[in-house]
Formats: sequence, C-alpha cells, structure tokens
Amino acid sequence: MALIVQKYGGSSVADVDSIKRVARRIIETKRKGNDVAVVVSAMGDTTDDLIDQAMSLNSRPPGREMDMLLTAGERISMSLLAMSIYAQGESANSFTGAQAGFMTDTKFGAAHIRAVKPDRVLKTINQGKIAIVAGFQGINSDGDSTTLGRGGSDTSAVALAAALNADVCEIYTDVDGVFTADPRIVPTARRIPSVSYESMLELAASGAKILALRCVEYARRFEMPIHVRSSFSSRPGTLILPEGVDTSSIPNVGTDTPRAAMPAPRAASNER
Ligand code: ADP
Ligand code: ASP
Ligand code: MG
Repeated sequence: MALIVQKYGGSSVADVDSIKRVARRIIETKRKGNDVAVVVSAMGDTTDDLIDQAMSLNSRPPGREMDMLLTAGERISMSLLAMSIYAQGESANSFTGAQAGFMTDTKFGAAHIRAVKPDRVLKTINQGKIAIVAGFQGINSDGDSTTLGRGGSDTSAVALAAALNADVCEIYTDVDGVFTADPRIVPTARRIPSVSYESMLELAASGAKILALRCVEYARRFEMPIHVRSSFSSRPGTLILPEGVDTSSIPNVGTDTPRAAMPAPRAASNER
C-alpha cells in the first residue's frame, strides 16, 4: 500500500461537475488500496475574482486582510470536494492550512513554510478516510492566516507529502505533464517523460510556469518524487525524481488509455 498526495489545481476543480470528477478519481486511487491525502486549489478563477473585489474597494489592501480573504477560496473547494466524496460513498475530512499544521513566517502574501505538523491529517488517514487540505495557506506565529504566493498550492502539496513521508506527490492539472514549451502556445511542444529536479528548476526559471518554483526547490530538498499529470486522462505525465530513483518504483503511474479531450484553452490569468 502506498501513501499518495494528490494536488488538484484550480483548472481541475473549476465547477461542481469537475469537483465530482475529481472526487471519483480520488476514490479510485483509494479503492486501489492506497492511502490518499489531497491538496486542493480554489475553484477556477476564484482567487483572481477575490483580488479584483478587494482592489475595487481598496487599491492598497492591508496584507493581513488580503490573506484572510484569499484563504477563503480554498476553503470553498476543500469542503465541496469532501461533500462530493461522501456522496460517492467514501469518508473525507477537510482541513484549512492551519488545521493541517502549516506553520509559516509572517510575510503576508508570500509566506514561507517553516514547519508542517500534519497530526490531524495523519489521524484522518489512519481512520481509513481521505484527508483534504486547503492549498496555498498556513498560519503564522500570531495565529493569523497567511498565503504562500500565487500558485502556492503546488508547494503546499510537496510540503505535505514530505511531512507525511509519502511515496509520491501527484500534481494534477489541465495538460498531460511538463512539456518542452507551453503546449497551449507551442503546438509542437513535446511531453517530457521524466526529468531531474535540477533540469526542472532550469525549466521553471526559463519560464515553464507549470509548477511553482518553490515547490520544485522544496521537492529537491526533501527528495520527494513529483508526478505532474492531467486530471482529464489516466495517461502517465512527467516524473520529477531524485538521481538514481527508477521510474518503475513510483506508484500509481497510470495507463496509456485514450485520453479525454483536452479542455479548451483558458484566458490568460495571473495565476502562478
Ligand atoms: P493549475 O490550475 O492546475 O494549477 P496552472 O495554470 O498553474 O494549472 O498550470 C498549468 C498550465 O501551465 C497549463 O495549462 C499550460 O498552459 C501552462 N504551462 C506553461 N509552461 C508549460 C510547460 N512547459 N509544460 C506544460 N504546461 C505549461
Ligand atoms: N488559488 C491560489 C492561486 O490562484 C493558489 C493556487 O492555485 O495554487 O494562486
Ligand atoms: Mg498552478
């Protein structure tokens, strides 16, 4: 039995039908005999919409209030996802970043994770349930909510996987993995089947905005295997692995079954 952390980005949980589909996928992973902890982003453009609302009221909103506002996005998706899992026959508990033990520094809007103490997540898993954690957020030493910077749910996922000593951190998104260039802009871009942390850091630094840079740094530090893949297919994606780790040792890599149609291109957003 493997312990798998799955992260679903905003593009994978954009509406209630998508949440249902993601819930089904999580349950499938669990019913294959794995323990599953999930990190979820806010639905679709929720974070952008909240920022727009804030800016319409105050062009220089206080950082504390901004983080209080933005953490609400992930609270919505985590609880809806848990409800959908219950509706499909499994049990799940959702947790805010604070409840999941994400302790950060005090830098509102770009907080760094100082420690992850996932006691409640572990307890839920040990009870045979699925744990759902709000991405992108934590709590500082004053007890205030903080956010990790745009695209920060990727970092939450790797940090949780490291703290739980998971076998793999799967990052589910709306493309089939990491490509040689953005596949939505460059149609001839090729999927990269596996890549080292160093090469992924170089790709991220040269503009491959599929993963938050900090998430890759965190994974390298803790040697946590990452599998970037599509939530719209069961095809293998891109494995980001420590030197010398064989791709065949990574659980739940998937099959080459025909993929569902890729979703229509999205309008540019300032996410990531
Ligand atoms: P999520 O909502 O899952 O967090 P993101 O929008 O943060 O998704 O990241 C996925 C997007 O990253 C893809 O839709 C794709 O357009 C973009 N992207 C940019 N560069 C790359 C690349 N080199 N490989 C794959 N996707 C890329
Ligand atoms: N919801 C946050 C954002 O839009 C975090 C994330 O999606 O990773 O930046
Ligand atoms: Mg993202």
